[in-house]
Amino acid sequence: MKKRIITVLLAFILQLTALSAVKNIILFIGDGMGTAAVDLSRMVLLGKEKLWDFENTIYIGLQKTYSENLLTTDSAAAATALSSGYKTANGLLGTLSNGTATKSILKAFRETGRSAGLITTVTVTHATPAGFCVSMPDRDELAIADEYAKTKPFDLIMGGGRQYFMPKNSTVSKRTDNINLIKDFQNCGYTYISNTAQLSELTGKTPKILGLFSDSSMPNALDKRFLNSSVPTLAQMTRAALTVLGSNPKGFFLMVESGKIDFRAHANDTAGTVWEVNELNEAFKEALSFLNKDTDTLIIVTADHETGGLTLLYPRLQLIKSQKATNELIVSLIKNKDISQSLKTVNELTGIKDINEEDIIKIKESSTPEIELSKILNERYEVRWSTVGHTCSNVNVYAFGKKAEFFTGVYENTELAIKMFSAAGVSPN
Ligand SMILES: [Zn+2]
Repeated sequence: MKKRIITVLLAFILQLTALSAVKNIILFIGDGMGTAAVDLSRMVLLGKEKLWDFENTIYIGLQKTYSENLLTTDSAAAATALSSGYKTANGLLGTLSNGTATKSILKAFRETGRSAGLITTVTVTHATPAGFCVSMPDRDELAIADEYAKTKPFDLIMGGGRQYFMPKNSTVSKRTDNINLIKDFQNCGYTYISNTAQLSELTGKTPKILGLFSDSSMPNALDKRFLNSSVPTLAQMTRAALTVLGSNPKGFFLMVESGKIDFRAHANDTAGTVWEVNELNEAFKEALSFLNKDTDTLIIVTADHETGGLTLLYPRLQLIKSQKATNELIVSLIKNKDISQSLKTVNELTGIKDINEEDIIKIKESSTPEIELSKILNERYEVRWSTVGHTCSNVNVYAFGKKAEFFTGVYENTELAIKMFSAAGVSPN
């Protein structure tokens, strides 16, 4: 009799847990987004008194980012930790160093009939999205595209990287064979989209999506404004993905990566980095309005690691804000121009008048012209970057919605994954 009561009680508790589980999780990753990048971008674009929308919560935590073999992680080991709850060695995607495949939160969601999607502003085959859905010993993007086609591990993916999906006879292709992976996805029921108009037409009636909007990475956020580019923003992709995935009544997992924070920070490009954080915040606002409609949703905003070792001295906010294009674009625009034309372009696009011909010669003669331009600008901006690589600082975690209270405190990146598994009532094993 006693045993029977315990069994009934246990079943009741399990039912309660399932009932209280979060239906939808939206995880934002600012790749390389350290605390100083959040601070500087806020001060430059909003003003020092304001907050980014994603900062406006009382549920804030810090996660420790070190990998299994190094204090300073790469994006592959970090994505594996965040998606599965296991630390692994740098360079490994969804795989432990003994070769065992990890189980990702994405897979766990799909096992329970829920949908799963990935969005990024870099190539869809880059380490962060890949670390959420494949198990591979390295980060080779061509091999990752092939693995995506073989296993179809997601319901929706959006970003750049068409070059890995097109057959070799296409001018943009990086493939060495005649395989057309876009066709392969279409044959398996995925709707292929490649521009903003198609993106805005998406409804819940097309539940499987392959969205590739550029051959390589998507353009930098600041350059998109400068060039008046029609390539979709991270916010537009997020809105469309939430329409598609939100049509599954059982729920969904969506990872949204602002991947170019890391790229701009690797180049020590201060203004470029600032605008990529804004790109993340704009996408976050889409998720927040989704949460207002469907409160059975948890939103987490975090980073995989810090990039660049950004240090803020007495940042010249107005100067940084007046830069009109990224250092990457400026360097490409002056590449074939003479010294005086180049100087004029740099002056116009940065708004800094005391750059002289000697500075331009230094940029042109450097083997890393973009870094040289960054050094010149950062002197004026009164910010410093200590590395062109990653650092091992903790990164912030901001949580919103159902079970947001799970995410306060200081914990391992692996624990963030375990908290998501637990909040959603899915198994990590
Ligand atoms: Zn990263």
